[in-house]
Amino acid sequence: MTDSKIMDKLVSLCKRRGFIFQSSDIYGGLEATYDYGPLGVELKNNVKQLWWRDVVTSRTDVVGMDAAIFMNSKVWEASGHVSEFHDPMVDCKNCKARFRADHIDLEKNCPTCGVKEWTDARQFNLMLKTHYGPSEDSSSVVYLRPETAQGIFVNFANAVTTSRAKLPFGIAQIGKAFRNEITTGNFLFRSREFEQMEMEFFVKPDETSEWLEYWSNARLDWYKSLGVTEKKLKLRLHEDNELAHYAAACFDVEYEFPFGWSELEGIADRGSYDLDQHAQHSGKKLTWFDSKTNEHITPAVVEASAGVDRTVLTILVDAYHEEEVKGEQRVVLKLNPKVAPITVAVFPLVNRDGMPEIAEKIIDDLKGDFAAFFDAGGSIGRRYRRQDEAGTPYGVTVDSDTLTDQTVTVRERDSMAQERVAMDQLSSYFRDKLR
Ligand code: ATP
Repeated sequence: MTDSKIMDKLVSLCKRRGFIFQSSDIYGGLEATYDYGPLGVELKNNVKQLWWRDVVTSRTDVVGMDAAIFMNSKVWEASGHVSEFHDPMVDCKNCKARFRADHIDLEKNCPTCGVKEWTDARQFNLMLKTHYGPSEDSSSVVYLRPETAQGIFVNFANAVTTSRAKLPFGIAQIGKAFRNEITTGNFLFRSREFEQMEMEFFVKPDETSEWLEYWSNARLDWYKSLGVTEKKLKLRLHEDNELAHYAAACFDVEYEFPFGWSELEGIADRGSYDLDQHAQHSGKKLTWFDSKTNEHITPAVVEASAGVDRTVLTILVDAYHEEEVKGEQRVVLKLNPKVAPITVAVFPLVNRDGMPEIAEKIIDDLKGDFAAFFDAGGSIGRRYRRQDEAGTPYGVTVDSDTLTDQTVTVRERDSMAQERVAMDQLSSYFRDKLR
């Protein structure tokens, strides 16, 4: 199977099973924006909850926050985004196709029409603009934030005074970000509206390199903990010429997608750039008082900036498998149970003899602890296949033996092995399996 075919098949599975739809589909869609359906939103929420647990609540040195998307435009002037946040753009004079100049080889012909007639490269600012309030003049311009990080930096003083934090400490948030990308594509990989999970870790300026190393490794390990294939993950150190305008050093966590190794997350040493800029532009003091040395210092920052949607894409691509079972093709998403939208699907073998009622009772018993789902539609084989495509790790079938001995069949998704389990033991059975 070619790599582009895998992406096409994944996109169609996501639509068929209710993971992800094109936005505004009935009107022909809107390029590079996506809606998450019933299964997709569960998968996405699981990713965000695991990140929040591992980066915020399970640590004593990181707190969370949730800043507004709209911010005073001065924030983006101070941060350098108004003047620096752009990508180089070129057009093909022959077919008018538009590309990011750093994503193609300008020595070669246009990949769309095969002619070599490029315009000069020019810079294109990626921030989306709108007007805030009822007047549409230059004073009402606001930007849709291109990153969530600035909401953290401008709240630095609030966080320090209210949580009485001591260096090193981090502030984290999850939220939407918007970029008017020149070229989009590869499904969720590059869209114009996406979600970020960002954490700014404030440290003493001479400790940045050790924290950069610490967070780069911690973040790489996090993707492994979600069940993503280890050999398809790596850290890559940025070359000097790829560094963003604010960064002194950066590691990317990369995944080997069907379209090549690409960035999942950036872990960057931002130095004291952001706090210095905001202190200068706002006239406010953005320092931390070191009571040991009696000095006010401006902390340096190590940032871990991840994309929720890129993580969801990685999990889906990595889990997608096609297998041959008894001469038939089986499509299965081998999702780690931690992220799977449904953990246990419960099926009455037939819709009579009290089997649906027993199945519903099982769901009632399980649903406080597990994401349980009832499915009575179609043959049992079809129901298994549907749940394989949804990535559901376990299936429970109520059959005629259940009526006499109160046991059910539990089917494991990946091995397809089946075993009989007493109905009243199901909760502890799954708890053991998922530990
Ligand atoms: P790229 O080089 O791919 O444009 P970047 O280096 O500009 O990405 P960052 O500014 O480091 O990206 O953003 C942090 C994270 O936010 C990325 O690692 C990615 O997971 C996510 N992200 C950035 N841009 C997009 C986008 N257009 N669509 C989806 N996710 C994105």
